[in-house]
Amino acid sequence: MRIMILFACACMLASCTGLKPSLESSQERSSAERPNFILIVADDLGYADVGFNGYDRIPTPNLDRLAAEGVRFTQGYVSHPICGPSRAGLLTGRHQGRFGYSINSSVDPSDAAAGIPTSEENIAEVLSKVGYDTHAIGKWHVGTHPSLRPNARGFDSFYGFLSGGHRYFPEDLTIERLEDSEFHGDWYYTKILENETPVETSKYLTHEFTDRAVSIINEADQDPFFIYLAYNAPHAPMQAPEEYLARFPDVENERERTYMAMVSAMDDDVGRIMQTLAETGQADNTVLVFLSDNGGPNGAASNGSLRGYKRDLFEGGVRVPFVVKAPGYDLVGDVYEKPVSSLDILPTFAALAGATAKNELDGVDLLPFITGADVSAPHDFLYWRRFELSEFAILDGNNAKGLWVKEGDFLYDLTADESESNDLSADNAELAKLRVRLEEWRAQLQDPQYNILRTWLPPRPHHDWYIPNWKPGYVPPPKD
Ligand code: CA
Repeated sequence: MRIMILFACACMLASCTGLKPSLESSQERSSAERPNFILIVADDLGYADVGFNGYDRIPTPNLDRLAAEGVRFTQGYVSHPICGPSRAGLLTGRHQGRFGYSINSSVDPSDAAAGIPTSEENIAEVLSKVGYDTHAIGKWHVGTHPSLRPNARGFDSFYGFLSGGHRYFPEDLTIERLEDSEFHGDWYYTKILENETPVETSKYLTHEFTDRAVSIINEADQDPFFIYLAYNAPHAPMQAPEEYLARFPDVENERERTYMAMVSAMDDDVGRIMQTLAETGQADNTVLVFLSDNGGPNGAASNGSLRGYKRDLFEGGVRVPFVVKAPGYDLVGDVYEKPVSSLDILPTFAALAGATAKNELDGVDLLPFITGADVSAPHDFLYWRRFELSEFAILDGNNAKGLWVKEGDFLYDLTADESESNDLSADNAELAKLRVRLEEWRAQLQDPQYNILRTWLPPRPHHDWYIPNWKPGYVPPPKD
């Protein structure tokens, strides 16, 4: 209720001045009036791998309940179809191409350029300015140099790993630190860091990370909190506890079965987060966001009727499961159909917290749109770039999407054709118009500021870092 009143005041202010609430007005609010934020990110979860998007292959009752209590976006996008650049955009509210974060950066801890540059401000840095306690849990993947790690980038605490993927069972976590890696991919085996200290873990990693979030919620003091809970599930390697595998006895393909079990475990854990918020009386004052960092990869994930996979600029690569629960707000309904972006999360949180970001943002505050106060579209255009492939895409306010990708040049009307199967690029005038707009945007971007060809460590022989029960010193069997 408190934040509903706050929002009403904010709307009145906005309608008088045409401006968002100022930092000065927000600083007069008591900390109790500011909502907590929990941003839950799944890794490589497909659009059709959640029940709330209308698919039933994997039951996700807790995520479905979250969606029912909030609003789900049918066209919720990330700004890049792979992990690192997507997270760089998500965390800064700015298209990552503006600061050259256009390909996964090296996880080399000696490379101070490989990550989100310190000229950028992330969600934790913005919220810290107005008194939030900030916590990063899980996968980081936006810089491993000491100057780029969570504790150096606005987070009061960190419990997770710095690289782009990780093994899930505690007995696999045998390398003390990232710096001890000998081969490319050894970082899948590092111990979990509590801030800078490697710790022993005891649970399946998804549960381990959830336990930490539950502890933070239980121990919250009078200051509002921001928890960035970045699961690595259901990203490879495919590993799931027996009790979850047992939920899918009829799935014969082991990889698919394991993937489904991993999603099911994560769904249970989102339920635990919601339960803890309810038990501690914080459910009505906590804004919860759930999304995936990119589309489902070609394999065990499913993007339903969407074309393409992770790495593609087709919808399957960039349209993701995306939900916002904002208690106390009268939302337009269970579903919001106009395109929104992961870049919108920072400005939405900042507006709710009364914080001001220092840089110009590409994202917008979504609250006026999902409450119906503003019936226009949040974005005139959304843009994508895969730098190393010279691939580009643009989506305009009429849901016309232009793509220039390795498969060719395409124009689609997503309203009539969400599966991108009916190419309209014979209408060259429309595509050319989109291209002009795209070029204007491209001129604002930077090339990567780090050496994208840098190889920090040699590949492990047979370059297979998903070897079960691998330990340092493992000698691979000879090739056939
Ligand atoms: Ca990912």
